[in-house]
Amino acid sequence: MNVLRTGSLFPEPGGAPEGEVSPGAGTGGSVARVITGLSLDREFDYRIPEGLRGQLRVGHAVRIPFGRRRMEGFVTAIGDHSDYPAELKAIEAISRPHPLFDETMLRLARWMGHYYAAPFETAIAAILPAAVRHEGADFRRLLSARRAGGAAPTPEEEEALRKRSPKAAAAWEALRDGDTLTAAELARATGVSVDSLRRLASRGWIVLEKAAVRRDPAARLEILPTVPPPPTEEQAAALAAIGEEIASPDPGVVLLHGVTGSGKTEVYLSAIQMALDAGKGAIALVPEISLTPQTMERFRGRFGDTVAVLHSQLSDGERHDEWQRIASGKARVALGARSALFAPIRPLGLLVVDEEHEPAYKQDETPHYHARDVAVMRGRLEGCPVLLGSATPSLESYRNARSGKYRLVRLTRRIDRAVMPDIRVVDMRLEAEKKSGQGRPLLSSDLVEAVRQRLARGEQSILFLNRRGFSTAVSCPDCGHEVMCPDCSVHMTYHRSGDFLLCHVCGARRPAPDKCPECGSAEIKRTGTGTQRIEAVAQALFPRARIARMDSDTTRAKDSHQRILGAFRRGDIDILIGTQMIAKGLDFPNVTLVGVVNADASLQVPDFRAAERTFQLLTQVAGRAGRGDVPGEVFFQTSSPFNPALQCACHADMDTFYDQEILMRELMKYPPFTRMTTVLLKGPDPAAVDAAALSVAARLRAMLPPEVELKGPAPAPLAKAKGLARVHLLLFAPAARDYLPALRAIQARPGLPRGTSLTVDVDAHSLM
Ligand code: ADP
Ligand code: ZN
Ligand code: ZN
Repeated sequence: MNVLRTGSLFPEPGGAPEGEVSPGAGTGGSVARVITGLSLDREFDYRIPEGLRGQLRVGHAVRIPFGRRRMEGFVTAIGDHSDYPAELKAIEAISRPHPLFDETMLRLARWMGHYYAAPFETAIAAILPAAVRHEGADFRRLLSARRAGGAAPTPEEEEALRKRSPKAAAAWEALRDGDTLTAAELARATGVSVDSLRRLASRGWIVLEKAAVRRDPAARLEILPTVPPPPTEEQAAALAAIGEEIASPDPGVVLLHGVTGSGKTEVYLSAIQMALDAGKGAIALVPEISLTPQTMERFRGRFGDTVAVLHSQLSDGERHDEWQRIASGKARVALGARSALFAPIRPLGLLVVDEEHEPAYKQDETPHYHARDVAVMRGRLEGCPVLLGSATPSLESYRNARSGKYRLVRLTRRIDRAVMPDIRVVDMRLEAEKKSGQGRPLLSSDLVEAVRQRLARGEQSILFLNRRGFSTAVSCPDCGHEVMCPDCSVHMTYHRSGDFLLCHVCGARRPAPDKCPECGSAEIKRTGTGTQRIEAVAQALFPRARIARMDSDTTRAKDSHQRILGAFRRGDIDILIGTQMIAKGLDFPNVTLVGVVNADASLQVPDFRAAERTFQLLTQVAGRAGRGDVPGEVFFQTSSPFNPALQCACHADMDTFYDQEILMRELMKYPPFTRMTTVLLKGPDPAAVDAAALSVAARLRAMLPPEVELKGPAPAPLAKAKGLARVHLLLFAPAARDYLPALRAIQARPGLPRGTSLTVDVDAHSLM
């Protein structure tokens, strides 16, 4: 076996991988370094046989012997020398015609593995979709027919064919102008059989063979081409700034801070057009949740078939074909969620990250990368500008913009004189007093009245609540028992459709109890409010309204998301009730009312970003109202009406919010003043996990420089999940270099008891 440690060859992230296996020696070398899919975090050297020298490139997939097996690997370097002390085994073959990544993507993967403290093979897996990476990934090939190059029937022969076999004649006519059609398509259109096609082929008129057929995720969408509207003054200024970056030899990052409905998406589209005009391609990232048919239509309408779409609902086949369309240069614009960041657009002229503040950009498996941050790094490596956009930029990006590291451009006004919605804070404590004796209502009388007005005027309303299910807890007033998931430290949520309890962490279900499982009391209560309960309340209050609910329970089926939004757009729904799924990116001109049922919910999350998240969420939700001609109205129902995050959201006042929040972060030494990394230990035996966490903490403390503050170990806020105890350590450090070496040392020799695992999340965005 050709075992070789390679760490020393690739010393620092960001810097060019150098060493005797040099990237420049791309053609003539005799030694290739190969990464496999095995979880070994190391590469292996192979001899390049004579026949492949000069052909083999970085990024090529190759067949290699490995131990007694054969497998596929990817070439990561080519050179003339190996430190391996014995004879190298030879690469057997190049297994796919084109390299799957280039030097720049390889550098990005190396940086990502290093920075996010993840094994290199997981970084390679991140940059190549599984649908492309896996051996045997290929186009779908179907029996297809096309006109043969040489012989053609004479008019007499055509006439004879029409008499003898009208179906075959019709098939010939369909192919005569040079189209390629599958046998199935021909059969549908003309009724021709495969046998008749074979006869045409044997006469030399047509060619019948298996041909690649594109699986097109947009095949069912009907797209009308659009022309860009003339930009507003603010949009023109933003585009001028982006244009300068596109033209610059040393382009930077632009932060586009634009209120909801100010025309940010139009700016992205025009900026992408500039990149295309410069002969380059572009990538646009949107959070999965706002990758709606509406967004895809806007891109396709502007750029047509040159847009490739990458998102989680694609089949593997579709994903493979879309990726190959990009790799082959047929598609010049990649639109997608997180991982579209790695789309092989060449050359890359612009990277757009919409809603850059979205936590969904953080990958929840190894490597735990943040797509916005990796986009900034890719931009730097590619020498291409990066455009970050948001109505509520993250504190990290806003700080970079304020300090001049990023270029800040603003869109302060909504398009078409549409005014920002009128936001009203409803103090639910007073509401409770008004209805004394009846307990606190879920919807305040003002909000109910506002919905009623919308129904009367034929306008649409949105009710937002960030919790699905009917009730969020089931508890017994007699003995205090609360029904928890046996495997997770969370309450089970009651789901009325189906009458069961569900754990939102592990998905466990059990029948809803009608009496307390502890003391037998029949008084057991369902408390806390989920979207299902709001739906029930709304149905009772507005019996004639057409009400729909959109949350992860109602959108599980493929396309259900689109179906609900389509019905809402057509006006078939009066009131849409939903979770954050409806908070973002939707543009429905007839929505004139948004009610936030519990504006405090996101403040109660145990996370130092709770205020920031609340400000962002409320601003985004409020932005759904009044995007058409009729001004919008928004209600924030709250028990803490003077909370600063809520007050700033009322005025979409990013600067005041920022100034307050940044002081707190600095005082507490939280990001963006430090980098926060979590080390999470999980295992079935709580005592063993505790002990392991203590020992890891002690080893880290011994290695970490004094600038790094280590907190913990402590139970994670989600102290138990899926039957595993969870204990975490938090690291706060001025810079990544301060803690990465110590983390690496722990990862190399974690010394954990059996069954216990350790996960590192660099720049963690969730403490759960
Ligand atoms: P954002 O992304 O900031 O929410 P959009 O780009 O979706 O804003 O724009 C909001 C609405 O205004 C959309 O319907 C869009 O088509 C329209 N719009 C944007 N820019 C212009 C413009 N310059 N002229 C006319 N309409 C525009
Ligand atoms: Zn009880
Ligand atoms: Zn559970």
